[in-house]
Amino acid sequence: MKFGGTSVGDANCIQRATTIIETTAAQRPVVVVVSAMSGVTNRLVNAAQRAEQGEQDFISPLIVDLHTQHITALESLIANNARRAQTASAIREVLAELERLLRGTAMLRELTPRALDAISGIGERLSAPLVAAAVNALGVQAVAISATELIVSDPHHGRAEPLMGPTKNRATARLKPLLDQRIVPIVTGFIAATPEGVQTTLGRGGSDYSATILGAALDAQETVIWTDVDGVKTADPRLVPGAQTIPEISYNEAAELAYFGAKVLHPNTLRPVTAAGVPVWIRNSFKPENLGTKITAKGNSTGGGVKALTAIKDVTMITVGGPGIVGLPDVLARSFAATASTRSNVFLVSQSSSQNDICFVISSADEKRALAALREAFAPEIAEQTVEHVNTNPDVAIVAAVGENMRGIPGVAGRTFTALGRENVNIMAIAQGSSEYNISLVVEKSAMQRALTALHHEFRLSEFLVTTKG
Ligand code: ADP
Ligand code: ASP
Ligand code: MG
Repeated sequence: MKFGGTSVGDANCIQRATTIIETTAAQRPVVVVVSAMSGVTNRLVNAAQRAEQGEQDFISPLIVDLHTQHITALESLIANNARRAQTASAIREVLAELERLLRGTAMLRELTPRALDAISGIGERLSAPLVAAAVNALGVQAVAISATELIVSDPHHGRAEPLMGPTKNRATARLKPLLDQRIVPIVTGFIAATPEGVQTTLGRGGSDYSATILGAALDAQETVIWTDVDGVKTADPRLVPGAQTIPEISYNEAAELAYFGAKVLHPNTLRPVTAAGVPVWIRNSFKPENLGTKITAKGNSTGGGVKALTAIKDVTMITVGGPGIVGLPDVLARSFAATASTRSNVFLVSQSSSQNDICFVISSADEKRALAALREAFAPEIAEQTVEHVNTNPDVAIVAAVGENMRGIPGVAGRTFTALGRENVNIMAIAQGSSEYNISLVVEKSAMQRALTALHHEFRLSEFLVTTKG
């Protein structure tokens, strides 16, 4: 079971989480993964960036703040003085390490990806001992464990991927004996370590991924992701107020949603469990009486077509274009090679049939590097003017409609365009995977919400519950 940032956001939330852990642990062995308390990782990343600028004044107040935040929760959760003191000293040790990391960064005015991972992973190392102490206080044996002892990853800092073989060995060796004794391991989400022991992170929102990695490594019966919404919804509830909880969805559908920005799941969450078929539940820790969403191989894909919508706005569209492109046979290959060389996250590619223009939509964070790589790759053609431009447009968003049953239903694309046309939403590019699980559209950023609302209405997603129950 994984508890997200808001689910361990303060003493009350942790109390709710520990009650869920207590109930579950009474029935069967459980491994718990925890995120940092909400807001903490953002503050750490921001602190790392300030330190890189050479700033130091903010460091002491930040350490005091984080100390207060965690100790306040600790004090209201744990009555026993000895136990409290032990956890408080563990928290202080981690904070002392944070202080050294930030001062070192500030002194060097250099923030390596490795240092950023060390700093941004501190939040989980603070929350795990706190939650473990709170579980212990309920009379259920629990122990905080750093995922650096369990999850072995590649060295790609900021976006590391697990090495499943070694992870399975380590996680089993370390956790199975605890589970056999009915001790609940409380594991730090988000972080991992290379085979050499260097700490990495799995990318923002990565605790979801930690949970399914461990679920797969331990052959879990199921993985439950406790969060602050009732499950996977038909759209981001902050953008579409009428969004409904989807009772069951397939790995493929959920993976598409996660990939195209549905924040409720880290993009790679479903990868480790899909082959093994471990069901994943998304449930609300604030309303544990609700069932939430079950993610399975089949996903109960009845009904017609579109199941959910998603959108990403932190993207940039890059176009490579010019009349000369028609005669260049390897334009796509070279463009891909250039974006791949920078490890850019490419969401969508589209090429017009006249072949005058190729457009990529990538994460805004990758824009600079990708643009430089493309300009370099096409430097000779740009000089000869066969390629006229390599341009970027940051004012775009991707809106995607997802559903396995879209396959073979001919009207979906037509209805999408008609609905958007009615709302005067200009579609700048389109892509549909051959899997036909999704149609993704590039629209102006300012039209994103209008597009979501129009499509939610068009595909009657507010009636979702009614149609699936009926
Ligand atoms: P946690 O801290 O538990 O990991 P996150 O904030 O990362 O929680 O993810 C949960 C949030 O994801 C929800 O509060 C919701 O605003 C957002 N979200 C975006 N798209 C969806 C969706 N399709 N279904 C449910 N929630 C979504
Ligand atoms: N704490 C990390 C983050 O904020 C990981 C997570 O919450 O899943 O990105
Ligand atoms: Mg999350």
